[in-house]
Amino acid sequence: MHAQEFSRRRRHLMELIGSGSIAVLPAAPERTRSRDTHYAYRPDSDFYYLTGFEEPDAVAVLVPGRPHGEFIVFCRERDPDKELWDGAREGPEGLVARFGADDAFPIGDIEEILPGLLEHSERVFYSMGVFGEFDQRLLGWMQALHARRQSGHAPDELVDLDHLLHEMRLFKSRREISAMKRSARIAVAAHRRALRACEPGKHEYELEAEFRYEFARNGAQCSYEPIVASGVNACVLHYNANDSVMNDGDLVLIDAGCEHELYASDVTRTYPVNGQFSAPQRELYDVVHSANQAATEKANPGNHWNDPHDAAVKEITRGLRDLGILKGRLPTLIRSNAYRPYFMHKTGHWIGMDVHDVGDYKVAEQWRLLEPGMVTTIEPGIYIAPNARGVAKRWRGIGIRLEDDVHISRDGPQVLTADLPLDADEIAALVGSDA
Ligand code: MG
Ligand code: MG
Repeated sequence: MHAQEFSRRRRHLMELIGSGSIAVLPAAPERTRSRDTHYAYRPDSDFYYLTGFEEPDAVAVLVPGRPHGEFIVFCRERDPDKELWDGAREGPEGLVARFGADDAFPIGDIEEILPGLLEHSERVFYSMGVFGEFDQRLLGWMQALHARRQSGHAPDELVDLDHLLHEMRLFKSRREISAMKRSARIAVAAHRRALRACEPGKHEYELEAEFRYEFARNGAQCSYEPIVASGVNACVLHYNANDSVMNDGDLVLIDAGCEHELYASDVTRTYPVNGQFSAPQRELYDVVHSANQAATEKANPGNHWNDPHDAAVKEITRGLRDLGILKGRLPTLIRSNAYRPYFMHKTGHWIGMDVHDVGDYKVAEQWRLLEPGMVTTIEPGIYIAPNARGVAKRWRGIGIRLEDDVHISRDGPQVLTADLPLDADEIAALVGSDA
């Protein structure tokens, strides 16, 4: 992402919080995996969104209108010994030279400097409850300022930063949409790779490996643990053991997306392991396909957030009734949520830097309107549990979900994952193919 983009975001947030305010954002801490090894470091999305800086042990501070500089960063100092082992650090000099900081200090000096910046502010914008250790430090500084209020000043308000910042993140800029397109393109290529590799007798994790390979060779990684669920495993929504053998005659449901330049994709396809749908598999598949289409058509500016879901519910209920799985009149079945045992999740979620991205779904208790720049998934599904009561045996143990990433563009729904077929014949033809 271009440096201009980060500086535009900081300016925007500073306009929103106004002078007299200070915003404080700590970087995510490193996490121990076991003993002395760490998980791969992943910057906190809010921190990165405003800084573009990817090192741990840092704190970003925004002070709109401060004459000596509005954007201040505390970070690790350069250290030749440490850098020899762990790689280069920017240090305060690098933050000023390359990240647009007006001022930067060693993280070890924060105790001396940050309380002074807080002291001159009326309002402190901060996201409480994300990083517990830093919460305690910030509260400690504020309490100390209040304790000696007679001799100095102390901020009056602690305001939740999430609300303003997450509303900003909900609306993606052109550069962000481009990044999300690249993330979607890599995910689509990985799904195609898995389709080619799919055959009966392989383990689910062998298809998972195709995803990890395609992501890694593009400089990306998984945006969440991939789900490769064959046969009845597809009825477990968050199955990710991925260790079963894929049987001839079963479907495989794959929910896998990547994170590239810190932007996520989230894509699901379901197809026959042997390339041939059975009649009941095909009938249920076509219902989910039409639900996906109907929901996507509703992903238009001016519609409500829930309109795609309502469209999916209608298609799925109608389909289940036509197949005899539900019995009764369509309006009654919809009103009584008769579809719920077979479609128990919502049709989508915001997606961006986080796979389940930030941003409110309701405004003043009402579903909000879809607006250009928002990006959502569309992911209807049908899952008939292996022990589903009152359902004919032929349907049981089938789980199908079809998930795309959709940009609510000015011109209507723009499906970022459109290069991956949804049509039953088209996708079945790709299984085990060289295409
Ligand atoms: Mg998904
Ligand atoms: Mg999803």
